[in-house]
Amino acid sequence: MNESRQLHSEVLVVGGGIHGLSTAFHLAKSGVRVTVLEAEYCARHASGVNAGGVRTLGRHTAEIPLALASRALWHELPSVLGDDGGFVPSGQLKLAETPAELQECRERVQHLQSLGFDHEVLIGADDVFELVPSVARHVVGGIWVKDDGYATPFRTVTAFRHAAERLGVIIHEATPARTIEQRAGRWQVTTPRGTFAADHLVIAAGAWGRELAEQVGETVPGRPEGLMLMVTHRVAPFCAPVLGATGRALSFKQFANGTVVIGGKLIGTLDFSARHGEVDMTRLGTSARTVTDLFPHLRHLGVNRVWAGVEAFTQDDLPVIGASRKASNLSYSFGFCGSGFQMGPGVGKRLAQQILGEHSPLSLDAFAIDRFHPTADAAASHLLPPSNVLHH
Ligand SMILES: Cc1cc2nc3c(=O)[nH]c(=O)nc-3n(C[C@H](O)[C@H](O)[C@H](O)COP(=O)(O)OP(=O)(O)OC[C@H]3O[C@@H](n4cnc5c(N)ncnc54)[C@H](O)[C@@H]3O)c2cc1C
Repeated sequence: MNESRQLHSEVLVVGGGIHGLSTAFHLAKSGVRVTVLEAEYCARHASGVNAGGVRTLGRHTAEIPLALASRALWHELPSVLGDDGGFVPSGQLKLAETPAELQECRERVQHLQSLGFDHEVLIGADDVFELVPSVARHVVGGIWVKDDGYATPFRTVTAFRHAAERLGVIIHEATPARTIEQRAGRWQVTTPRGTFAADHLVIAAGAWGRELAEQVGETVPGRPEGLMLMVTHRVAPFCAPVLGATGRALSFKQFANGTVVIGGKLIGTLDFSARHGEVDMTRLGTSARTVTDLFPHLRHLGVNRVWAGVEAFTQDDLPVIGASRKASNLSYSFGFCGSGFQMGPGVGKRLAQQILGEHSPLSLDAFAIDRFHPTADAAASHLLPPSNVLHH
């Protein structure tokens, strides 16, 4: 590529994870010319190495409407993308191991019902044993969400990538965005492979999104973390739904090939400058004990593989989604705090709608980037030009 050549698109997306590619796909579906810049290769980071949980269960109430909208898309992926991403609508179950935990679950379900959400259902021990016959008998009940499930991360991201490319999206891998700058109403993004220009810029750079937002003076308090997973050897089928626990960290699922994936926002260590997470075997051991408490017959099951991925966390555990409050024609989608894979299809669609100025009943207010500094940013908001909508 010629260093001096400026490559122009209507929208430039920085980040080839599920959020960047879903946004690119949904924009291209509306006829927008989109280019994606990916620092390494698509699905290299959290989106390709996560646990695959498609979970609306247990979400922060601000996230629930978007998560439910996203889940509807998961069920339609074959018609939307031509590939189901390996999605299995297995249901998800959060276990209560004590009466106090069951009371916590009851209060959660009642609270959601008071807000008009009925997707989480309280169930007793008998229903749990029917769903998962081999679970330990000290379990007293839980919360069941039948339409949740799990998918195959790399396959899902690749399906978004291919669907986007079929619609004309151009993807440049090994092309990290170094600087972003708005000149004469147009975004200029420098990379080692030349400068790219666009009318509208989308920052969907996962754990690196904060650094890019900082370049336009928008600070997001938070931190990157290394999140760990382990996968066991194969074992005969014993558990169909995805399981979580109420009183301790757990996310647990058995894939069709018999392997069991164990996680639950387990924090490892992180070398952020090397873009690399490392596992902490002691913490993984604690997690393995939770599993064998619940399924004693797994006590001698070997662990086949462990890894850690790099994930973005914000101070309030909610993502940043929506328009910049300081610059025109700039949008963000990052900081998904360990739960962003499920949100990918729906958030990409919703963000594309916002960029195109289309109405949606799904509010993004709770995810606005200026929520961390309301006073300072309100004072500066007069700097924001009136339009954040792409006219194409
Ligand atoms: C171990 C683990 C387990 C998880 N389990 C689940 C789960 O079960 N369910 C769930 O819903 N979520 C889960 N998550 C969270 C989920 O994976 C993430 O929230 C989601 O994938 C974030 O997607 P993203 O597109 O925002 O970020 P990423 O996938 O990190 O993608 C961002 C991309 O931007 C690129 N990039 C960064 N900087 C630049 C730059 N300057 N220029 C160009 N490109 C750049 C990166 O290389 C990266 O490919 C898990 C995460 C981890 C790590």
